[in-house]
Amino acid sequence: MIGAHPHEFQVEVLTAASNADLLIAQSRQYQPNAVVISDPNKYQQVQEALDPMDIKVYTGAAIAEVVSMDSIDIVLTALVGYSGLLPTINAIKAGKSIALANKETLVVAGELITTMAREQGVNIYPIDSEHSAIFQCLMGEFHNPVEKIILTASGGPFRGQDREFLRSVTKAQALKHPNWDMGAKITIDSASLMNKGLEVIEATWLFGLKAAQVEVLIHPQSIIHSMVQFQDGSIKAQLGLPDMKLPIQFALSYPRRLPADFPRMNFADYPQLTFEQPDMQTFRNLALAFEALNKGGNMPCILNAANEIAVSEFLKERIGFLEMSDVVETCLLKMPYITSPCYEDYVETDKETRIKAQEIIN
Ligand code: MG
Repeated sequence: MIGAHPHEFQVEVLTAASNADLLIAQSRQYQPNAVVISDPNKYQQVQEALDPMDIKVYTGAAIAEVVSMDSIDIVLTALVGYSGLLPTINAIKAGKSIALANKETLVVAGELITTMAREQGVNIYPIDSEHSAIFQCLMGEFHNPVEKIILTASGGPFRGQDREFLRSVTKAQALKHPNWDMGAKITIDSASLMNKGLEVIEATWLFGLKAAQVEVLIHPQSIIHSMVQFQDGSIKAQLGLPDMKLPIQFALSYPRRLPADFPRMNFADYPQLTFEQPDMQTFRNLALAFEALNKGGNMPCILNAANEIAVSEFLKERIGFLEMSDVVETCLLKMPYITSPCYEDYVETDKETRIKAQEIIN
């Protein structure tokens, strides 16, 4: 995307967790000023490869610092889970626009982040495909009240299955998403519908909505990426093939639409677009997310931390698929509730919930 528009964008910083080879290859192509490789064991390899090109190489916690560099206009945050929170806060404090792929940041601390962004006059552009769809539907409508939004969900690989079936599903089955090719954490979250629950919470903060204004609709073809219903009853939808390139490009090019050679959708290939209600009894994560959202305070932070531990233990095949919801539900019941958390409360809640979740599992 950046490569297709070299006159529009200049890459200032690239970051990676531990994929040194890809970081080096992309750095050779885009010539950033600096890179961060989080894994200290990979530092020397990256340093030696990029030194001749005069690219500064950092490691470890530097990721939270580089976001405030003067030369940066927009920071694309695609860290996994809670780890995205501090870099995003620092970027907002430094007045940078945010292209947000890390939904957990808004789930954990939506009030704090959106208040800070408002105070700093910083825009947050959604990259999550559903939220990008809603954002696109709202263009030209920013002063028109929204009645509700309809977040579509593919339903994941286990759509239509019952709890008996889910009890014994394997990690390999859960990692096979029918429409989207994504990282392990979000793919498991999609299979358990926790991803949709996190997206409901994310949407309320991004678009200033109440929980009752967010409806989830299962749409297995993933062609309608989400919809907005206005107060006159009119519904706008954004459609396209399921491909993250478009929402990423739009977050970086807003309000313009840049030319792109992404594959076009042909309606004849999709003679049937179908819709069904989500089954919240079977996929309890979605109901738990709504509960956490309605209760507010640090509850979504608890939900997220418990889920991160549950998913990581499921990926290690130490708990079953249904137990992930059990861990989340128990943490929501047991962890102390804080009505109006500050940043330190979120940090503490996240830390203590992880310990609690681990205790429940062990
Ligand atoms: Mg999404």
